Amino acid sequence: MSRLLQISEPTPAPRVVGIDLGTTYSLVARPLGGGAAEVIRGGPLPGGHPRPRTESIASSAELLPSSASWDEAGRIRIGGEGAGFIRSAKRMVGLGMDELPESLVREYALSPGPQDTVRIDTPSGAVSPVQVSAEILRALAERAEISLGGPLDGAVITVPAFFNDAQRQATRDAARLAGIPVLRLLNEPTAAALAYGLDSGAQTGRVLVYDLGGGTFDISILQLADGVFEVLSTSGDTALGGDDFDALLAVHIESRIGRDAPAHLLGTLGRRVKEQLSERERTSVSLCGWQGEITRADFEAMSAPLIERTLDICRDALRQADLQVGDIDHVVLVGGSTRMPLISERLEAMFERCVHRDIDPDRVVALGAAVQAGLLSGIDQSEALLLDVTPLSLGVETAGELVDVIIPRNTPIPVSQQTEFTTGRDGQTGLIVHVVQGESPLVQECRSLARFTLRGLPPLAAGVARIAIQFSIDADGILQVEAEEQTTGARTGIEVTPVHGLTEDDILEMLRTSGTDEQEREAALRRARSDAEQVLHALGRALVEDARLLIDGESDRIQTASENLARTIQGDDPEAIADALQALEQSAEHFSQRRMDTRISQALAGEHKDAL
Ligand code: ADP
Ligand code: MG
Repeated sequence: MSRLLQISEPTPAPRVVGIDLGTTYSLVARPLGGGAAEVIRGGPLPGGHPRPRTESIASSAELLPSSASWDEAGRIRIGGEGAGFIRSAKRMVGLGMDELPESLVREYALSPGPQDTVRIDTPSGAVSPVQVSAEILRALAERAEISLGGPLDGAVITVPAFFNDAQRQATRDAARLAGIPVLRLLNEPTAAALAYGLDSGAQTGRVLVYDLGGGTFDISILQLADGVFEVLSTSGDTALGGDDFDALLAVHIESRIGRDAPAHLLGTLGRRVKEQLSERERTSVSLCGWQGEITRADFEAMSAPLIERTLDICRDALRQADLQVGDIDHVVLVGGSTRMPLISERLEAMFERCVHRDIDPDRVVALGAAVQAGLLSGIDQSEALLLDVTPLSLGVETAGELVDVIIPRNTPIPVSQQTEFTTGRDGQTGLIVHVVQGESPLVQECRSLARFTLRGLPPLAAGVARIAIQFSIDADGILQVEAEEQTTGARTGIEVTPVHGLTEDDILEMLRTSGTDEQEREAALRRARSDAEQVLHALGRALVEDARLLIDGESDRIQTASENLARTIQGDDPEAIADALQALEQSAEHFSQRRMDTRISQALAGEHKDAL
């Protein structure tokens, strides 16, 4: 049984999300920190929550069909599949009548709107593609707000790399209509590369993103430079996608039946067969009294030419960027259609390297957008120089009201550490575990975090029982304490949250109040040395990684302070070490600040750079 112990209110994290506003499907994800993210699914509304203004269908799924309908009463429905639903808003936003694909002009009742825009007729009047997109965004924002518990502070919204200014502006307008503050628009391929962490320190080079969706095919070649993705070239085919593969199967099935079959049944069946053949080698099919079997080999034979076409388009993108296949370091798959196994096979043969396809190709763009939202809002403080360490030592009370430290201060988290204890009295069958936080060896000068009892110990002589106490702190600073008696396996634990729940002043105050006896001095010396070594190490790395951020003379000042600290560590005066450490931290303060700022401004600069 674990009990939750709230030490103080955690500061609320900003409510930010990434949104993949897709042609066929859209989804929303949120950052979890540490470069991770998760998709938010629609769901039943928790009791008492106000009904959303619009109704979204398929509400418990992660993928929301990118569609909206308006009825005579002006009621809006989002995410439906049937007639009356406007589905291809993304292919119309920011375009004039004469720029629209022929198929859309045939499918919808369109009329010209003001400033060379398009209007779509609905039973409640003409709507613009921007309005359709806004309703989809609003539906996604509503599900995110329910999950995050309040209005959104910002969103990163993805757009195709080839979107021009008007299309990007129209997407921003849609977000504004939906009341969503836009942190930035992010190119879809860049989002996919971010989801795979291809922007992080050791990763370099060029990324080819292969995105095969329902009706479109996009290729982008990105180059990573100084943590920023630049788009080197884009290519694609706006009339090539999963639908074409469905159509091939429909034709094949109809020819096997030997007579006409209803087109919509054939279409749906073709799609189902295609999707099944991504998972297995053969599938059985029945339609209009006919029954047969289709194998993956059959399907691959008929679809190979389509896939070759996509590879030709890859070559075209390479040519535009003046690159050879060998210049590509990573190939990333995006879009539901890349689940067809032949695609990765052919790409692996062409590029002679593994393609990245571990992340669900439907989710990868939204997840990457969420990662970016986390970076921009400070939820993700990657490479934080002196952060993400325990601010104070954590330990347990032992005999004589003394503290036995289990995790020393400044230990990087996450961390898990275990120490063995024993009983102090003969026949003792229970043990009180008192968890404390602070730098003093005396319990009363530390902060008491939790107290629990381990029962069911075998009645042994004092000093015989072996009790392991384990402290684990996860990346969120949540401390979990577990005690286990080794011979009987009796165990109990508690969760303490959050470790960072102290104010800066609390921490400073607790760091000041510490004893002065011999033992204390020795402990203080060891702590000071360990603190100093960690800072020297982290700073040494930072100086190499971000040398370009150093300003005139700064490097020398930091170097001198480092050398001074390294010398002081050799001595045995904890105060002198602390002073030298402080001097070093001061000399590096602005450099550290710039490192943090650069993470954010680089990300922002990416917006301009890859918007080109
Ligand atoms: P878009 O980017 O155009 O919104 P998606 O990326 O959502 O499209 O991809 C939709 C396409 O992916 C559809 O054609 C669908 O049939 C196809 N698809 C989904 N799952 C599979 C699968 N398992 N095998 C093959 N194709 C699939
Ligand atoms: Mg897509």
